[in-house]
Amino acid sequence: MSAFGFDLPTEVVFGEDTFDCLGEYSGNIGKRPFLVTGKHSARAAGYLGRALAQLPGAVLFDRVEENPTTTQCEEAAEICRARDCDHVIALGGGSPMDAAKAIAVLARNPAPASQYFGVERYTEAPLPLIAVPTTAGTGSEVTQYAVLVNVEERNKRTITGPALFPAVAILDPLLTLSLPRNVTIATGLDALSQAMEGIVSTHSTAASDVQALECCGLVRAWLPIAANEPGNREARARMLHAAMLSGAVIAQTGTTLVHGMGYYLTLEFGIAHGLANALLLAPVFRWNARHLPDRVAEIAAALGHPGPPIEPAAAENITVAVHTLLGKLGVSPAAKDHGAREDRLDWCAQHLSGDPSRFKRQAGTFATSDLHQLFQEAYEGR
Ligand code: NAD
Repeated sequence: MSAFGFDLPTEVVFGEDTFDCLGEYSGNIGKRPFLVTGKHSARAAGYLGRALAQLPGAVLFDRVEENPTTTQCEEAAEICRARDCDHVIALGGGSPMDAAKAIAVLARNPAPASQYFGVERYTEAPLPLIAVPTTAGTGSEVTQYAVLVNVEERNKRTITGPALFPAVAILDPLLTLSLPRNVTIATGLDALSQAMEGIVSTHSTAASDVQALECCGLVRAWLPIAANEPGNREARARMLHAAMLSGAVIAQTGTTLVHGMGYYLTLEFGIAHGLANALLLAPVFRWNARHLPDRVAEIAAALGHPGPPIEPAAAENITVAVHTLLGKLGVSPAAKDHGAREDRLDWCAQHLSGDPSRFKRQAGTFATSDLHQLFQEAYEGR
């Protein structure tokens, strides 16, 4: 067995109504929080009002867009600094959580945000963070990553560093009851993707594997229920747990080729982040089965399709497992049914091929033609 480390410095508070403890946790950290959220959902569902009632003196930034940009985080950080806020609170999905992390960096370090892409490139310690997820998918509440769209190059990049782990993550499954079906599905599939990628990552560990396999089983069992019965509290709690596990996994392992390719489906065709990843799972994991048939067979088994840990059985089983789950969710596995354009796939493959750092933890090597083939298979839903 290989040696490994396991670092998860975030204090996790999980359970129904834990959201009511936000004021107490915030008060323990500082006096003036900078509260970061999106434009609509937290306000519409009443979560923003409940947060503000607990946070007298909070400064609000409620304009985070899906797939947050460097420019927006720079603007928000200026307000945070000018108003002398001493900690940052994220309320929302992965977009507000990642924006909050970047704001925490930029409030203490000068713009532009792009100079902090990479690992620990900031010099001053970021402001401390509290994360309150309202989607069940990214696990960003327990990761050290802030993924932003770099407006200069129109691509996603990541600010990474141990200080970006939130100090506290408050996971209240009741906050996910208001998720619409499409967001429930896309975000739940993001958790699955992260767990699956963690298992085949070159940085997988014995400890992260346990969490990743547990996450796969939870998503298989509970995501269809959460999607079909939005008010099912048990399903919502199980999916929020699954998402947290997937975040804990990628905090150790990073992501692999699925995420590297998925960003292109999101930025080129507007396909939601988690769904984009899900459409790539069957093609990329058939490829993974060539190098790591035992690992892929373990994942297929966790998804309810056990079989021998050899080719071609592992590749066949993982394809059936992924397609069966997507079928239960009523999701076409073909990217063409979600807005992808075949005439752009070659450009995506070429661009990704020129930026292999996007999948540096992926086993195997890839020519541009291999990447094109994988995009093509996702396009067709094979
Ligand atoms: P999101 O935050 O973009 O939210 C998606 C939509 O759901 C938005 O329209 C939002 O208003 C709505 N929504 C959120 N919570 C809701 C609720 N409770 N009720 C009703 N509507 C609600 O989506 P996401 O998938 O959570 O986050 C995706 C982002 O996270 C991407 O930018 C991705 O790159 C990033 N990400 C980061 C990490 C990390 O470790 N930092 C990991 C995975 C993904």
